[in-house]
This record gives sequence, C-alpha cells and structure tokens, in this order.
Amino acid sequence: MRYIIFSDLHSNLEALTQFQKEIETVGYDKLVCLGDIVGYGADPNSCVQWVRENADVTVAGNHDWAAVEKTDANYFNSYAYESCLWTRKKLTAENKNFLRSLPLYHEEGGVHWVHASPFEPDAWHYVTSKAGAERHFKSFETPICFVGHSHKPVVIEQTADGVVSDYVAEFCGVASGTRYIFNDGSLGQPRDGNPAAAFIIYDSDEKTVQVRRFEYDLNSAQKKIRENGLPHYLAERLAHGR
Ligand code: ZN
Repeated sequence: MRYIIFSDLHSNLEALTQFQKEIETVGYDKLVCLGDIVGYGADPNSCVQWVRENADVTVAGNHDWAAVEKTDANYFNSYAYESCLWTRKKLTAENKNFLRSLPLYHEEGGVHWVHASPFEPDAWHYVTSKAGAERHFKSFETPICFVGHSHKPVVIEQTADGVVSDYVAEFCGVASGTRYIFNDGSLGQPRDGNPAAAFIIYDSDEKTVQVRRFEYDLNSAQKKIRENGLPHYLAERLAHGR
C-alpha cells in the first residue's frame, strides 16, 4: 500500500494546485491529511473542499478546530489569531461542519495518524525531537505514527531496546522491531528554512518513507494574503520557509 501523507496546508491553494500534479506523477493507494487545512492563508474554502473530496483519511488540526471554535484560539500568536477570525468569517457552513466532524486521531494499516502528538492529542504538543519523545511512544500501540503540526520534517525512532534518536532524512527504511514517529513537514507553510512544500510517501510493502519537496507559485499565494488584508508577515514568511 502506498500512502501520500500531507498536513499543514493552511489555506494555501497555490501549494495545493502543484501538489495535485506531484501526486498524480507519484501514484498512490491512499491519501492521508494530518490536519491544519485552514489558517494563515487566503483560500480556506477551496482547500477544505478539495480535502473533503480527495483524502481517504483526515484528522483534525488545532487551526481546523479553532476555526469552528472547537478548541481555544486564545493561545494563538497575534498572526494566527487574526487569520483564525478571518477564516471563521469566510468558511461556508458545509466546510465548517466537515472540520467539526474530524477526529483527533485515526488508526489504520498498523499506523497511528494524528496532527500534533500521540500523547494528549487535544493539547497540541509539538513533536520535534527525541526530547520528551518517550511519553509519545507510550501513547500509541502501532509500530509507526505520523504527525504534522511543527511544519518541520523529522524522524524519531525507538529501537527494540528502548533507545530513542532523531534525525532529518529524505529517505528512511522502516526496520522491523523499531518504532517510528515521522513528522511530514508542511505543504502550505514550511518552517525548516526551506520554502519548498513538503509531503511524505510511505510504502508499507517496500517499508520506505520518503520526504518530497516541490516549488509552487509562491508569489500568487503571497499576493492573495496581502490583498485579503491578512497580516503581511504571513506572506513574507512563505518565502523564507519559517
Ligand atoms: Zn499547522
């Protein structure tokens, strides 16, 4: 089974448009969205609509639930908060219902799928390194977990004797007996210093995980953010990947 895994699209229709071309070329059996479809960007409805129609599995992100007042937006920084209020006004009732209906996590195919963290998924913890990773490994039963949320791709692994390590890799072979947490980066607002959009290809037969990056029409995405009166910083950060 070949899975395409993406998250943190953040209403970036330009990244999504190019993503559709990329995944057609790759080919896949299942498409998994790890949340944060909305927030920050200028096209919330088109993005939610596409995910509704195309993703086989979708879990809720903090921005998705904040947009429908299902999680607290008061802890957001001012840019996130402002764009959240804007997104609430823009989203159609149908798209809001979809976001409201999303589960916090999903298990299928020997994989735990969650937006932020396996431990306390509704507290939206960041899983970015081996520091504190034991509590996350204890919070799911499957060999593999995929997360998003930090917008930075990373691999965290725990060997059979309990040793935990982390690293950044474009390609990773999945060893039996070892458990993994893979962070898929971000499709719509990368923050690892690389402005190229990121997604993951997981092949459960070949036991491989690959991070793919691609360029998209960043200028149009930036222009729309500015034209819609969203904070200009949200446009600028796309060019720097942070
Ligand atoms: Zn996000």
